[in-house]
Amino acid sequence: MPAGRSNPLQIDTSKAHPARVYDWLLGGKDNYPVDEAVGEKLPSEARDGARQNRQFMHRAAAWLAGQGVDQFLDIGTGIPTEPNLHQIVQSVVPAARIVYTDNDPIVLRHAETLLISGPGGVTDYIQADVRSPGKIIEHARTVLDFGRPVALSLIALLHFIPDEQEPLAIVGELLSALPPGSYLVLSHAASDRYAELAAQVTAEYARAGIRLGFRTRDEVARFFDGLDMVEPGLVTAPEWFRTAPAPVPEDSGIYAGVARLR
Ligand code: SAH
Repeated sequence: MPAGRSNPLQIDTSKAHPARVYDWLLGGKDNYPVDEAVGEKLPSEARDGARQNRQFMHRAAAWLAGQGVDQFLDIGTGIPTEPNLHQIVQSVVPAARIVYTDNDPIVLRHAETLLISGPGGVTDYIQADVRSPGKIIEHARTVLDFGRPVALSLIALLHFIPDEQEPLAIVGELLSALPPGSYLVLSHAASDRYAELAAQVTAEYARAGIRLGFRTRDEVARFFDGLDMVEPGLVTAPEWFRTAPAPVPEDSGIYAGVARLR
């Protein structure tokens, strides 16, 4: 019987999965030998990129909560890794409500960690694919008030959505459900910063059956079309600092930005 067949949550341990490889890159334990084998073959910069990406999420979430944003829709959440988004946000705004979404059953299996909300706040999880934005919004409306600003976070997600699956249209549909004053928080692996490393990472994932499409800065910028970029604009992940310059200037192959809806 193929590995994973008997598992009620259908965890397939016979092939690598993005959430589990990313967990391995972050030093997590919720991955399988098949995921570790991919991680081991990646250049060490991939681990730096994962950490820098996660730290961008920490700073962006804290900044948004500091602006009074108390509703978050996070798609492509990943395996829980402390601090999770809701822990950061609820430490600033205890009543904050967070809806998490991922399409990988491994994340569902660990969802109880995401569902331990701080007192006064709410967290919720739905297993769904970002390529079904209508379904996600319909569910999110049962938890969040779409009459008030919502922060939509798509962090290290869209490089898993190739152009023919129309990521721009998907993001457009998600944004069209949000009221003015909402935010888009987005990070994305770059194809044009360390082109050789990017090609190497893409090739290793492809060998493991995972399709990645890194994008240039211009291509990533298109996700923000029509929105007001928050300073410092679309930068690399370690450069995204709102209150102080990066304490240790680091280079990165991840683009990151936050923008406000008009
Ligand atoms: N946002 C987290 C995790 C990034 S890893 C962070 O930045 O720390 C990317 C995540 O996107 C994985 O958990 C993977 O399962 C999820 N993902 C990939 N394709 C997806 C899709 N089509 N729909 C929903 N989630 C997806």
